[in-house]
Amino acid sequence: MSVLDPFETRLSRRGFLKWCGYLASSLALPASLIPQIAAGLERTPRLPVIWLSFQSCSGCAESLTRSATPTLESLILDFVSLDFHPLLQASAGTAAERSCQASIKSNFGRYLLIVEGAIPIHAHGAYATCAGQSGLKQLAEATEGAAAIIAVGSCAAFGGIPQAHPNPTGAHSVHELMVAGRIPQRPLVNLPGCPPLPIAMAATLAHIVVFGAFPRLDARKRPVVFYGQTIHDHCSRLSCFQQGLFAERFDDLGARNGWCLFKLGCKGPATHNACSLHKWNDGLSFPVESGHPCLGCSEPGAWDRDGLYHPIKVNLAMHNRSP
Ligand code: SF4
Ligand code: SF4
Repeated sequence: MSVLDPFETRLSRRGFLKWCGYLASSLALPASLIPQIAAGLERTPRLPVIWLSFQSCSGCAESLTRSATPTLESLILDFVSLDFHPLLQASAGTAAERSCQASIKSNFGRYLLIVEGAIPIHAHGAYATCAGQSGLKQLAEATEGAAAIIAVGSCAAFGGIPQAHPNPTGAHSVHELMVAGRIPQRPLVNLPGCPPLPIAMAATLAHIVVFGAFPRLDARKRPVVFYGQTIHDHCSRLSCFQQGLFAERFDDLGARNGWCLFKLGCKGPATHNACSLHKWNDGLSFPVESGHPCLGCSEPGAWDRDGLYHPIKVNLAMHNRSP
């Protein structure tokens, strides 16, 4: 749903109210809160945000640029002040470093820190350095003045691909570094996914701007509203699973008929994420709908499982069907 005037980069009033409605529904908030959301967004000064990247492919930032509701432009221009983003900002080198330091200093204690990528600690952090500093040192300094942290993507949230066996660089998640006392403790929300859904990032950010707090989190610090159910729960192939219609090869009749991909290794029944609910590219489709099994990218240890294309063990009673 695009709420931007096609000839403008900022939200129109009508688009803004429409977006507040969409935001309320994606966060599972009652419609009665829409005026409060609108008023909150209008009166709140833009939230200073610093985005740091470590061991990542930049897919999470790329995913955020695909955010349709709100668009990245409206997020940056209307609701947050993105003071440092290594990928999106125009400046580079010393000028960029200075602007990051200036923002940390002037917004100390009240900026939101967004972390993308895992953080390596082997070889004194030499596997990810920036401006002559290790990623670990950079993160520790930025965490000191942060009001809260969002770990975007499976790498920042759970270690992701950099942490997969044998983890040669000593990659750690933000939470692991906090628990180990390597960085200061701050309120943390995890948005795992490879990459996370744009709406999960945008709505969590908007929730913080409006309510000054995270949405309700589960035990793994993930917003329940986006990670409370599995891919399987809303999958477009669920009726095939329930009828026992399974593709057994990627080129068989079942695959061509759109049958369930469980026997091709789909991890959807054990993967907590909202891809099947919100989908990608403005609600167009998601990997399973396009013919590929869910790899379970948003679960901890996803890349160390026994084979990406091996069927998993699921509680069959829970899913009413024996494959
Ligand atoms: S097993 Fe995978 S393809 Fe089959 S219904 Fe569940 S999520 Fe969809
Ligand atoms: S469908 Fe599964 S593997 Fe694909 S992005 Fe969503 S959670 Fe990750």
